Amino acid sequence: MSTALRAVAGVVTLLAAGILLTTQASAGTARAAADCSGGYVGLTYDDGPNPSNTTNLLNTLKSNGLRATMFDIGQNARNNQALVRAQVDAGMWVGNHSYTHPHLPQMSSSQMLSELQQTQQAIQQATGAAPKLFRPPYGETDSTLKSVERQLGLTEIIWDVDSQDWNGASTDQIVQRASSLQNGQIILMHDQYATTVAAIPRIAANLRGRNVCAGMISPATGRAVAPDGGGPTTPPGGGCTATISPGQQWSDRFNLSVTVSGTGDWVVTVTVTPPQKIIATWNTTATWDGSGNVMTARPNGGGNTFGFTIQHGGNWNWPSVSCRVA
Ligand SMILES: [Zn+2]
Repeated sequence: MSTALRAVAGVVTLLAAGILLTTQASAGTARAAADCSGGYVGLTYDDGPNPSNTTNLLNTLKSNGLRATMFDIGQNARNNQALVRAQVDAGMWVGNHSYTHPHLPQMSSSQMLSELQQTQQAIQQATGAAPKLFRPPYGETDSTLKSVERQLGLTEIIWDVDSQDWNGASTDQIVQRASSLQNGQIILMHDQYATTVAAIPRIAANLRGRNVCAGMISPATGRAVAPDGGGPTTPPGGGCTATISPGQQWSDRFNLSVTVSGTGDWVVTVTVTPPQKIIATWNTTATWDGSGNVMTARPNGGGNTFGFTIQHGGNWNWPSVSCRVA
């Protein structure tokens, strides 16, 4: 091939690559602007995180534009903290599924409390936030367990549709069962099976075909609803969005960072609950109200991400954050 021809071939290859990129970008946009007029359903995956499955599960959900609730077993969360963070980073919600997956109604109320509490702590240590949702192993519950859940502020979530993936269901059968999901309903699946992961692209296609979207499970109602973001908050009128991400943690304090999008001229209000106290900030100019609980953060010329350290005093919950355009 002559040099000139080779150059032409190179341009053609680049053009072809360009067309591919354009196609992928528009597919992504179409997914972001999904039509959810058919309502929301809750996809749930129990028993993780699982070193041999979770990463694959998360990647498959993400590439199909789906978000789901992961009911993690506490001891798995304790042993695989990076995977719990990966669940949150992938846009999933994390729920409590007990510490050792026992038959809870056969236990004393103090054993129940320990199972649920240890799991709250393991997940909070991994992600900075304690779960609000609880699914009892095997769906087994009773009035004692319900009162322990109430004590910890947890909402009990069972399911409307059982995929039967735990019982040897084929990918076809899992897809078939998911196709019966109606607005507000929740399906049981597990973070464990190749059949379950293989079902995801077809579940996504079925939901899209019915204008149904994968939503979050509301702690208030226990039903699937539109995601509220959990982290991002957009005030009425829009303008900017502030998204919190977890940072480093120590026994007495933890770091959080906030990324603002939508404007470069922002005012972000961060409200902590005592005994929490913000003891350091970076990449922002901060002022405080009289109580010391409300911090107002403004850009200091270093971009749209800033951070702070919270001395938690036993409260690991994230502060509330809101954003407005200056
Ligand atoms: Zn389970």
